[in-house]
Parts: sequence; structure tokens; C-alpha cells
Amino acid sequence: MKHEEYIQTSKDSLWLPFTQMKDYDADPLVIAEGKGIKLYDTEGKEYYDAFSSVWLNVHGHQKKELNEAIVEQLDKIAHSTLLGMTNVPATELAKKLVEITPEGLTRVFYSDSGATSVEIGLKMAYQYWLNLGEKRTTFITMKNGYHGDTIGAVSVGAVDVFHQIYQPLMFESHVVPYPYVYRHPSGNEEACVQDCLNQLEEKLKQYHVDVCAVICEPMMQGAGGMINMPFGYLKKVRELCDTYNVLLICDEVATGFGRTGKLFAVEYDGVTPDIMTAGKCLTGGYLPVAITLTKEKIYEAFYDDFDKMKTFFHGHSYTGNPLGCAVALKNLELFEQDNIVGQVAGKSVYLAKLLKDVNALDHVGDIRQLGFMTGIELVKDKETKESFDASQRVGYKATLRMRELGLLTRPLGDVIVFMPPHVTTKEELQEMVAIVKQAIDEVTKEAYKEAVSIK
Ligand SMILES: *Cc1c(COP(=O)(O)O)cnc(C)c1O
Repeated sequence: MKHEEYIQTSKDSLWLPFTQMKDYDADPLVIAEGKGIKLYDTEGKEYYDAFSSVWLNVHGHQKKELNEAIVEQLDKIAHSTLLGMTNVPATELAKKLVEITPEGLTRVFYSDSGATSVEIGLKMAYQYWLNLGEKRTTFITMKNGYHGDTIGAVSVGAVDVFHQIYQPLMFESHVVPYPYVYRHPSGNEEACVQDCLNQLEEKLKQYHVDVCAVICEPMMQGAGGMINMPFGYLKKVRELCDTYNVLLICDEVATGFGRTGKLFAVEYDGVTPDIMTAGKCLTGGYLPVAITLTKEKIYEAFYDDFDKMKTFFHGHSYTGNPLGCAVALKNLELFEQDNIVGQVAGKSVYLAKLLKDVNALDHVGDIRQLGFMTGIELVKDKETKESFDASQRVGYKATLRMRELGLLTRPLGDVIVFMPPHVTTKEELQEMVAIVKQAIDEVTKEAYKEAVSIK
């Protein structure tokens, strides 16, 4: 097929995730290749991959060692089940994961996406209490939390635009605020933290006998708008869960594997959750493998004679896929060999410096960054923090302008995501941030003029 034919065929035959297809038809794009941190479309135009192909990529595209790891595994076996047996790469990877994840997490349950890893965590938490003889039926989640798009994950999701329509299909969960300092009425970190912790404690006090677990994204919420948690907050959440005898599930699907400048975000507060989910960067952005890790006490609650009916009845066809596990193993080897976490931690200081320039723009209200996870919140009025009208689609338009200028990312409403692959160099960061800045400046100024003229 030629470029025009790809474009037409994509419009005629595809239905894309999280996409209003009417938007796609106006601005179609078919990617043909990737090399390093650049993507190339079917016309040969090149783009910076400023969102790591939606938060996945670590070492760039066509990383030689990762390509080879898959080919090497292909010569042995492409897939073999984990139902009642295991395979070599899944076993080796489990050992490695237990070694590198926070002390106390001892068991690895595989699946194939972030959403499924969360489903598994929720079902485990529910059945854990059941196996101990307690019937608990609900969860506590945090406002703007995002845990994936299957019904269970949506039930503990709390991003109104994504989740409200599915309300009738969901099970009940209690929502408490996330410490979103910029949008807290006080605008003050300490007051915001105290307010949010009080509300969490209230809910726990009232409902703890019915609550299986508190679930949250540690240190940085992703899809809810790149909202960072003040340091020390997660530790307090852990303490409250212990006080009220409720499990803590930390969803590291976005934050895990070096994204925030630590291997796992929970390390910032020295917290070990009872259940931890991860996915996205586990395979370096190559293949769909996700994991749900648990403490030994969770595992033990399911371990008994079969007729006690404590088995965890859950699995997927491709659970523990050998190709995925083999590339994950090589990815983790490269993490150590290339000091990937240290690289992100170091370069993120430089990135923060570059972002200061962006923060100075008239319509940038807040920039939230932890490692290579960044959200740039656009506002109509910097003083009052008033947002642009959603109908203006300022975030979306800014990313379309970035695309014209040779950079790809996706907005979350009016929050621009900047999440480059871990190996991105300082020079590349500089070029990328320059494009982001130019596009934001042009598009927000235009939108502001439009907003004022409508009034
Ligand atoms: C992306 C994400 C998920 C869902 O992962 P998928 O692989 O897209 O199903 C879950 N939780 C968090 C925090 C995420 O960022």
C-alpha cells in the first residue's frame, strides 16, 4: 500500500481506542517505523515520540538487544500456558521481579495489560478477605484515579469524563480526594494534605469493615491529569490502611520501571503495598505483559486443599507469554547495565530547568513533574487559575500543532503530557521542549483571543 491508501484504509476500516473517529478522519496518521526516540509515518515524516508511544517505551524503538531477545526466544517456543504449569522465561522473570520490587512482595501473577493486572488485584483483595471468612464488598479509590478500562478497573476509576457514562455497570466504590495541591481551595500543600487525609480517615472509620482495599496511583496520577502526590502522603495512606486493617493496592502501571526517577514510585515514601500492579514499561514498550505482585500473606490465604475452594479462579490465554517475558528480562538487564533509573533521575533535573521556560508562558498554570512524567496544565487565566472552556479543546489543538512541528503526544483535557523514553538525551529534551513550548504559546494565545471575543 502507498501512503494515501493507508490513510484511506485506516479511515474505512478502523475504530481506534479513546478516539472520536470524527477527529481521526480530520487528522489521520499511520505510523510505519520507529528508530530510537523517533517515529516515522507512511509518508516518511518524522516525529519525536514525546509520549513514549503512550507511556511504554524505555530504550527507544528498534533496540537491538530487545529485538534479539525476542528472536532468540522464538527459536525455542512462542507461547506455552501458565495454567497448571509454567515456562522458562516466565519463571526467570518472576524471580527477578521479586528481587527488584519492594521488600515483602513475594509473588508474581501475570496478565497482559494494566487493566487486567488491576482486575486481578481487586479480585485477589476481595477473595483474600472471603478466604479469611470476611465478606467485604467495596473499595476506596482516589478522585481522578485511573486504573484501566475493563469494568472492574472502571469501577475504581474516578475520572468523570471517562467513567461517568458506565456508572450503571459498575460496583460501588468510595471516592476520596487525591492531594491535588494546585486545585485545592487552600492552594496550600499542608492544608491540602491534611484535608485529604482527614477525608480518607473518615471513610475508613465509617466503612472499614466492608472495604477490601484502598487503591491508588502512588506519587503521580497519570490519566487523571498528571497530578503529583506530595512526598510523605503515601506513607500516611499506608499507616491509615494498617490502622483500619484494610489492604493497600498501589497501581504502578504508569509510574513503574524508572518512569519517575525511582524503579518504583512507592520507593519515594518507602512503602510496600499489599498488592502492586505494573505493566507499561515492563517489556520496554515491546510486548503486552503486566504483573500483579502480592505479599506472602495474600498468597497464603489462597493456599489450601482444593475442596476448600480457595483457588484464585482467574487467568488469560496469553498469561506469562514467553516472548513477552523474554523481552522483559532483557529490558531489566538493560536497566542495570545502562543505569536507566539513575539516567532518568539525573536528566529530570535538566528537564525541570527547561520546563521553567514553559511555565513562564501566559497560559501555563501549573507544571507537575516527577522524573520523566510530566503534565503541563493550560489555563485561560493564570491569576485566577480559570480553565479554558472545554469546547475550545485547547489541549487537543496544542498537540495537533506539536504534530505539525514534528512531535507526538496526547493531551489529558487541557493537560499536555510530556513523557519521553528514559534514554532521551539532554539535546533531544531541549529540542522537544522547544516544540512543546512553541505550540502551547501559539495555540493558547489564539484560544484566549477567541474566548475574549466571544464574550
Ligand atoms: C495505563 C494505565 C492502566 C491501564 O493499562 P492498560 O495496559 O492500558 O490496560 C492502569 N493503571 C494506570 C495507572 C495506568 O496508567
